[in-house]
Amino acid sequence: MSNTIKVAIDGPSGAGKSTIAKAASAALGFVYVDTGALYRTVALNASLKNADFKNSEQVIASLEGLDVSLGFVDGAQHVYLNGEDVSDKIRAPEISMGASAVSAIPAVRKFLFNLQRDIADKNNCIMDGRDIGTVVLPDAQVKIFLTASPEIRAERRCKELLEKGIQTNFEEVLADVKERDYNDSHREIAPLKATEESIIVDTSALDLEQSIEAIINAIKENMH
Ligand code: C5P
Repeated sequence: MSNTIKVAIDGPSGAGKSTIAKAASAALGFVYVDTGALYRTVALNASLKNADFKNSEQVIASLEGLDVSLGFVDGAQHVYLNGEDVSDKIRAPEISMGASAVSAIPAVRKFLFNLQRDIADKNNCIMDGRDIGTVVLPDAQVKIFLTASPEIRAERRCKELLEKGIQTNFEEVLADVKERDYNDSHREIAPLKATEESIIVDTSALDLEQSIEAIINAIKENMH
């Protein structure tokens, strides 16, 4: 057991996990780890190898020789696929859906487990994902379940994609959000769920500043 401080933030896509966790990490001097980027990188690799996301055998075959690693540049996480920085490429909508599909494959979760665990054992960190409090860091001192209504999350996602120059349709994004929610919380392995000790934070009615403050306070009150 390491003696680093571990903060787990789980919740559905678009709840604001990454923005909030990034700001809270900077304020506390912790490393921020976005584990969704790892599943996205596995999906990107599978697509580059022409694997069908829904075909476990093909996805598992695509893991052969795959090297996924994380680096931190000025506090920002970068993800590397066989040495190439793919931090931007993994944000494409088809990769979001691919990540949701490949993350339901046990061999994929196993493949990424040690990488996540290792970072948390070596650094005080805030790690966000779907199964951080339940599976990856069950020993986290602070577990937060961050959520918001599907409509609010779809609205935020559209805005975020637009800022990156990606045009979207609200209804399609909302359908995507709902489909990913369903996939993430109904899968057999490591489904998205709060633990008994999780602090539930609903950001539907909070602006960004208020959400960040709520998270920093929850961490400070519970980290010892
Ligand atoms: O958080 P993000 O939307 O980038 O995650 C992409 C997908 O990766 C999610 O829809 C989810 O299916 C999967 N994921 C996961 N476990 C994690 C992080 C992400 O299954 N710890």
